[in-house]
Order: sequence, then C-alpha cells, then structure tokens
Amino acid sequence: MEILDSYKALLAEIGKLDSATSLLSWDERTYIPPKAHEARAKVVGKLAKMSFEQFTSDEMGSYLEKLSAMDTLSDLDKASVKRVSKDYKRFRAIPPALYEQYTIDRSQSEFAWEKARADNDFTAFEPYLTKMVDYARQFAELFGYEENPYDALIEDYEPGMTAAELKTIIEPLRAELVPFVQRLMEEGTPPDDSFLQGTFPADKQKQVSLKALEAMHYDFGAGRLDVTAHPFTTRIGPHDTRITTRYLEDNLLSSFFSSVHEGGHALYDQGIPDELTWSGLDDGASMGIHESQSRLWENMVGRSREFWHFFYPTLIDVFPQFEGIPLDSFYRAANRVEPSLIRVEADEVTYNLHIMLRFELEEALLNQRIEVRELPDLWRDAMKRYLGVVPPDDAQGVMQDVHWSAGLIGYFPSYMLGNLYDAQIYRTALREIDDLPGKISRGELLPLREWLRDKIHRFGRIYDPKELLQRVTGEGPDPQYFLDYVRTKYGEVYRLK
Ligand code: ZN
Repeated sequence: MEILDSYKALLAEIGKLDSATSLLSWDERTYIPPKAHEARAKVVGKLAKMSFEQFTSDEMGSYLEKLSAMDTLSDLDKASVKRVSKDYKRFRAIPPALYEQYTIDRSQSEFAWEKARADNDFTAFEPYLTKMVDYARQFAELFGYEENPYDALIEDYEPGMTAAELKTIIEPLRAELVPFVQRLMEEGTPPDDSFLQGTFPADKQKQVSLKALEAMHYDFGAGRLDVTAHPFTTRIGPHDTRITTRYLEDNLLSSFFSSVHEGGHALYDQGIPDELTWSGLDDGASMGIHESQSRLWENMVGRSREFWHFFYPTLIDVFPQFEGIPLDSFYRAANRVEPSLIRVEADEVTYNLHIMLRFELEEALLNQRIEVRELPDLWRDAMKRYLGVVPPDDAQGVMQDVHWSAGLIGYFPSYMLGNLYDAQIYRTALREIDDLPGKISRGELLPLREWLRDKIHRFGRIYDPKELLQRVTGEGPDPQYFLDYVRTKYGEVYRLK
C-alpha cells in the first residue's frame, strides 16, 4: 500500500502547513500589534499558497484516482479519499494565483472592516467589500452550479443544501416566528432584568467563563481562552482548540454565553479522535452541525433552569450582588426576548430572524440584484420588516459581522440550521440519557458531553450533515422541533395564557 502511505504523508504535510496558518490567523485576531497586519497578511498568503499547491497538485490527483479505484481500503481510508476527492475538485477549480491574491485581499479587508466599524464609516469599507463579493461571484462560477450561484458557495458550509431548500425552511419559520415574537412582546409578561444592569469587571467575568468551561469539561490542557473583538473558536491542530470571547463591562451575560457557545464548538473539535488527524476528516460534518453543538450548550443547557440551579451559586461567589435575587428571577432574566440590533447578542427566539435577513441580502448580492453601496439602506429596511427595529448607524447595522469582510458568503444560514438541528438533537438526548435534566441541575455535564462525543464528535467529517442527523435522531432536518421548543419554553417564561 505504498500509494496509501504516500497519500497520508502528503495530507500530513498539508495539515502541518494549515496548522501554522491557523496559529498565525489566531494571532492576527488576538494579540498582533496593529502595524503588523499588512506584513502578516503576506506571511499567511504565502503559507496558504504552499498548502493550496500541495493539496491541488497532480501528485494528489494521481493518488486520489488510484485510491478511489481500490476496494481493499479500510472504511476510514475510503471516507478520507471520498472527502478529499470532493475538496480536491473544488480547489482545482480555482487558479492558484487567484487564490493567493484572495487570501492577501481577505486579510486586508478584515482589517479595513475592523477600522471602518470602529469609525462607523461604511464608505471606507465599501471598496474592500465589493472586492470580496467579486471573489465570491468568481468562485461560484468556477465551482459551477445548476440553479443559483449561491448553491456553489453554501456547499463549503452545508454540503447538500441549496438556496431553494433554504427558502422552503425559512418560509414556515418566518411565518411562525415573526407573529410569535410580536405576541410575546404584546401579551407576555417580560422578565425583570434590572438587576443585570451595572458594571461587571472583565477579570471577574473571565472567572465565570472559566468556571463554566470547566463544568462543560472543556480540556484546558488542549486549549485556552483569550480575548478578541469578534469571538471565535479555532482548531490549530491536534490537541489545540482555542476559544476567544469578549468582555463588555456593562453586560455580564454576553461574555458568559459567548464563552459557553465557543466552548460547545471546542468540545466538538476536542472530541475528534486522533485516528482522524490529518486525514481530511478531522473537522466537523458541516458548519451547521458545528453550530448545533455550540447552540446546544449555549441555549439548551446554558439558558435552562436546570443549569442555573447548579451554576447560580458559582456566579454569586464571583458577583455577590446577586445574593438577594431568587434563582427563578435570574433564570427568567437570562431568557429575556428582545428584538435587537446585534446578531451575536440576540436571544434564541429572534436569532434566526437576523440570519434570514442576511441570507436575503447576500443571495441578492451574489445574483447581482443589488449592489454593495445599497447595503446600508437595504439592511435598515430588512431589520424593520423582520425585527421591527432600525439601527442608528452602520457600525450597529451592516458592518456588525466579520463574515462578509472575509468573503464568507453562504455561511450565515449555517447558524440558523444549527439552531434547528440542536433542538432536534437535544430532544434525542433527553430521550436517550437517563434523567438528563436532573443530571444538569446537579452539574453533571459529562454524560451529555460523552453522548455528543459518541453520537457526533468522534465521526469528524465522515458523514454528510443530513446523513449524520439521520443517524443521531432517526430523521431528516425538521424545523418543528425548534418551534415547539421556543413556544413551550417562552410561553412559560413570558406567562402567555
Ligand atoms: Zn458558533
């Protein structure tokens, strides 16, 4: 099996380069001095080019062709060859010089976005974003598609999903969610969250985040927690999955939920077994499945009454001002629903509405029905239709997310799909894990982590998202689980009649 060994050795070479790139990119978004961005972009561009050239080499093509024809491979090697072949075809579609220029422009665009957002200056960001949208259009044409260029791009994040199928998921969701949110606002009793106003020092918030991550059994021997403008998780390589968060001193729960969210992503990555290292399978099944893991921990666990039953005393230890606030009041305050401006701060009921409007805009951008310069106005209009609120400036509007600045178009729907998958997966966990609510209320979170590891994490990228969901829950994607969950939970939190 010389070919198999050579194939694995080549994948390992690529894996090592990608690991270096991930570490440099992590540094770019955490600790890099501001003046070093331009030079760093060139270093990242160089490494990405080397990796890209190896991955798309004729050598790799010849290994894949020969290995695909062999029937003596193990199931794992077969899965590796199948996945890598698919990626190979996609990457071969892009000329190396174009890809290198893209990685350089992308770094500069992300930096420009950060500055433009701080200055609330969309005009300064517009040429960079225009360039990124042009890249997305070019890539879609190069990948090829049947109906919609959007389908060519979403394949990177949610294999098998299309714009048309998304519309069939979004329509019923929007039809139920928009009036449900209105009903909560008009007929519900909003929780009193006045005790969440105040100043919460960053170092104390960090203590709470660390305790929550410990409770989730995040492995600090194989990761770390740092600060960034826009929280993310990155798998640098085997046994190195890092989390970032941000501490807003006037918002205690923001950093808490973002840490638990990123912790959920990190548990997925930490649960990928060593045998998948540098096999092309050492990643999540899709962005949507990845997001289902972060959302499951953030919402199903982190926003549950059971979790706070266990964790509230820990919070009170760090912030004694909550001493006199009853647990139930705190639980309800942590579940306040409010149509708001910022996606990452949105509650779990209105969150999907933020995604729907991004999907609507980016799908129209890609199909050239709208132009980049129109985005700020179109954004305000869409916010009004979906959420009934309008941002006072572009920093809190169209420039709030990093994704488009990095050319990531077709990515946002994964967040919504994650919210739908997680409700479905959690329903299965409740059925299969004995007394899961009781366990959570005692702080026993390991059985849930182990169940997720056994059902999802250990398979890495072996299965497509639909196939994986079918194996875990016995069904295809069904948005009704999410709708049932929010109706039941928030009907009670808001005391709807
Ligand atoms: Zn996430």
